[in-house]
Amino acid sequence: MEPLSRFFHRRSEKALADAPLQASIARATGKFLGARAEAVAAFPGFEAARDEGSRIKRETLDRLDVHLARFIAEAEKRGAVVHVARDGAEACEIAARVAKEEGVALAVKSKSMLAEEIGLNEALQSAGVDVVEADLGEYLVQLAGEPPSHILAPAVHMARERVARLFEKKLGEPYTDRIPDLIGIARRRLREKFLAAGMGITGANFLCADTGSVVLVTNEGNGRMGTILPRVHLVVAGIEKVIPRLADLPVLLRLLTRSATGQSISSYVSVLTGGRRPEDPEGPERLHVILVDNGRTGILQGKYRDILKCIRCGACLNVCPVYQSVGGHAYGWVYSGPMGSVLTPLFAGLAEGAPLANASTLCGACADVCPVKIPLPELLLELRADEREQGLKDPAEVLGMKGYAALMGRAGILEALERFIGVISQVLFKDGKTPWLPFRFSGWTDRRDFPAPSPQPFRKLWKKQRGIHP
Ligand code: SF4
Repeated sequence: MEPLSRFFHRRSEKALADAPLQASIARATGKFLGARAEAVAAFPGFEAARDEGSRIKRETLDRLDVHLARFIAEAEKRGAVVHVARDGAEACEIAARVAKEEGVALAVKSKSMLAEEIGLNEALQSAGVDVVEADLGEYLVQLAGEPPSHILAPAVHMARERVARLFEKKLGEPYTDRIPDLIGIARRRLREKFLAAGMGITGANFLCADTGSVVLVTNEGNGRMGTILPRVHLVVAGIEKVIPRLADLPVLLRLLTRSATGQSISSYVSVLTGGRRPEDPEGPERLHVILVDNGRTGILQGKYRDILKCIRCGACLNVCPVYQSVGGHAYGWVYSGPMGSVLTPLFAGLAEGAPLANASTLCGACADVCPVKIPLPELLLELRADEREQGLKDPAEVLGMKGYAALMGRAGILEALERFIGVISQVLFKDGKTPWLPFRFSGWTDRRDFPAPSPQPFRKLWKKQRGIHP
């Protein structure tokens, strides 16, 4: 998927003018946030678990090479074939080679953000392998030819009438917008694919180094059908998904499911260790795991390392006022919300992703909910500083900031300006607000009124309160 994050402003304008989209985003984020709040309130150990989860992920990143080597050795000992890919192109090549060697013409795939990141579907399709998304939301966006708009609910932007029209047009099904009927159609169509597929492709929520296990956390049984029915299971996972021990899993699961969907545990947690043994009644004949770097080692060595702690729960998206306003597509690539605003510039380059680093109010709500305590606002500020250093900032903004800094260092001029603003605000502002600001400040008032400044400058009020007389 080609990144289009540089067009964030234009795409946001479109999203803001789309009333059905606004309603869908509000409904979904509200539901996730409400469920999370209830789940956290019902679990008094949540803060302690956050500390522990953050510690586990930090410990992993400190010795990632050691944990990866252990994972590879343990997984291979139990019959898995592990491949390592430096970048997305190499990962796609390996996946296509595995499919060819295994004689696979059809693959079913469960949700994997990494597969989107590296363009796996397109690569396999060019190699002659048909790939069908097996999770309902992903299946819908694949039929519509769109990227996912939320990491947990990829089709959150689609109303059921749209799904009905999609099934009518793409699958030739009679129009119905009854939800049970729509689910029935998807189930019937997907079952055919599960039974015919030679390979199931999944991501991984965690990779346990000490047992070589792949852990999948899902709410749809489709994930299990994709890992058990086809004769080959291919896992595509970022190297940061490894955790030191299987014993670390419970705390991370507690955090992930509560933060994501507000569940104390998700419907399915699969711990897949090695390939099928002779005594196993079912399961794939072969398990391949591709560990993908694709820029992660570079991030690990730099000042943005903390973002590799992300367990993709989506809580920071749901709580973010920017995401709540524009939804996932406006971000123009695979990852959205605050975590996407950090990851996209790092993966796709600052020139591409800088608009996202600036698309934040820095309110801090994302850091407050992050289950592994990633300091997202600080990372966004770092990216803005890098943007300035690399000369990518709008020159007018740089000039404006220089003027602002100079003004703040001259108390006399600042006080005179404060007095002047106090006077003109009496004219420009009615009933304590204005719906219009001039020039480059008009963005503030496009969709909301700007509150009038106090007629008394702050420092004058401060002195008065403290009894300080000039
Ligand atoms: S940054 Fe934190 S809150 Fe956001 S998706 Fe990752 S783990 Fe969840």
